[in-house]
Amino acid sequence: MSQATVTLPLCSSCNRPVKPAERATKFNCPSCNASLIWRCEKCRKFSRLYVCPNCSFEGP
Ligand SMILES: [Zn+2]
Ligand SMILES: [Zn+2]
Repeated sequence: MSQATVTLPLCSSCNRPVKPAERATKFNCPSCNASLIWRCEKCRKFSRLYVCPNCSFEGP
C-alpha cells in the first residue's frame, strides 16, 4: 500500500480543507504557541474568528 493521499490542513475558522492554491495563511496560536492555525482565503477576507484547538483561544 502506498501513501498517495495528501492531508490538507483544515481552516481553523470554517473547518474546510485549505487547498494549496489558495492564498491561505498559517500561524502559530498567539496564546499557547503550540498549534498551527490555518485560515483560508475567505476567512481572511471576512476576518472570521478562529478558535485554537489546543487552548480554545479565540482571535481575529
Ligand atoms: Zn475558512
Ligand atoms: Zn492556542
